[in-house]
Amino acid sequence: MDIKRYHSLKKYNTFCIDIKAKYFAKVKTIQQCIDILEKYKNEKILILGGGSNTLFLKDWDGLVLKIELKGKEIVKQDDQYVYINVSSGEDWNKFVKYAVKNDWAGIENLIFIPGTVGGAVAQNIGAYGQSITDSLYSIEALEIDTLQLKKFDPKECDYRYRSSRFKREWKNKYIITSATFRLRKNTEEFELSYHERSGRYGSLKEELESFSKEPYSIQDVMKAVVKQRQKRLPTVKEYGTCGSFFENPLVTFKKYKELSKVVSDLQFYPSEDLKYDLTDTGEFKDDDLVKIPAGRLLDERGWKGKWEGNVGVSEKHALCVVTNKKARGEEIEKFIKKMQDDIKKNYDIELKPEVNIF
Ligand SMILES: Cc1cc2nc3c(=O)[nH]c(=O)nc-3n(C[C@H](O)[C@H](O)[C@H](O)COP(=O)(O)OP(=O)(O)OC[C@H]3O[C@@H](n4cnc5c(N)ncnc54)[C@H](O)[C@@H]3O)c2cc1C
Repeated sequence: MDIKRYHSLKKYNTFCIDIKAKYFAKVKTIQQCIDILEKYKNEKILILGGGSNTLFLKDWDGLVLKIELKGKEIVKQDDQYVYINVSSGEDWNKFVKYAVKNDWAGIENLIFIPGTVGGAVAQNIGAYGQSITDSLYSIEALEIDTLQLKKFDPKECDYRYRSSRFKREWKNKYIITSATFRLRKNTEEFELSYHERSGRYGSLKEELESFSKEPYSIQDVMKAVVKQRQKRLPTVKEYGTCGSFFENPLVTFKKYKELSKVVSDLQFYPSEDLKYDLTDTGEFKDDDLVKIPAGRLLDERGWKGKWEGNVGVSEKHALCVVTNKKARGEEIEKFIKKMQDDIKKNYDIELKPEVNIF
């Protein structure tokens, strides 16, 4: 295994920040993880997948492990479901395409999200009303302190909106080595939820109608999501970016009602889960927590398309901080602080980064 010293991480994070890691290694097997962790047991460890949700502010004074564990295997199946174990270094998008090609449903809305399977599991990715936890069956991880392999039920990982224990108290304490997904074989049973989803996400419905007819297949849904994302989000080819920089804030329903008087077209979503049948029922009480789109608030404040030096906000989406791939971490930090201050001052809302900042 090649262990590099004072190695630039510019190629390994989608903000393209040029910081150096004291030690850097790509690990391809669990045994390699164990060997290197034993050898460098006194070093501070940072686990890196595709670096698409990671912002580096300074050099890493320790060991960066880039996870490149590969492989996938069907571990069981029945009439309804197929269970696939996927190694954490696999490319998330390739896995989605593989599932959709085989007509296995459950992750098709999560196409076009950059990064690895391990990053997606740590981060609890979600898009268009679907989240990875809808299909996540179990997680295997190597505990860094004990070098023991452990298996987790997702319930033990306290999954929350764009977060899990792996992103919070277990950050850089476990290496996710693989995850098992339970995908549905009988895709017709999903037609109704697609229909509802299309209703909720108006743009997806229009996209689907533009090239297909109901009942939509999962291939159609995946295609529609790709087309929508190409129109609405910046890509890592064009810009340095981690996609949405901030989480959508949780506010009381009362606060939402106040905000919606000054911010036009402000929507809200149930706080815990994006369950479609809960929205717009008028059943929310003033104290109930709801989620509101941070992008809409930033857009209202004129952040879309705004640039200062090497850092800006996407023309397409006010929640996406972008760079010309030359920005330093501190420049991004300063810029996002301005965005946060503006939203705090004008709406009394704290925007929390979704991105992991080191
Ligand atoms: C253009 C763009 C669009 C995006 N759209 C979305 C979207 O729609 N929805 C969404 O949810 N996200 C989105 N993201 C964010 C990002 O793609 C996801 O969070 C992705 O899952 C991160 O994976 P990664 O491998 O790149 O993670 P990294 O950035 O490498 O790591 C993220 C965190 O997970 C930890 N981690 C990574 N791998 C492991 C592992 N094997 N074991 C333990 N911990 C690990 C890291 O230590 C870090 O704390 C977008 C990003 C971009 C650039």
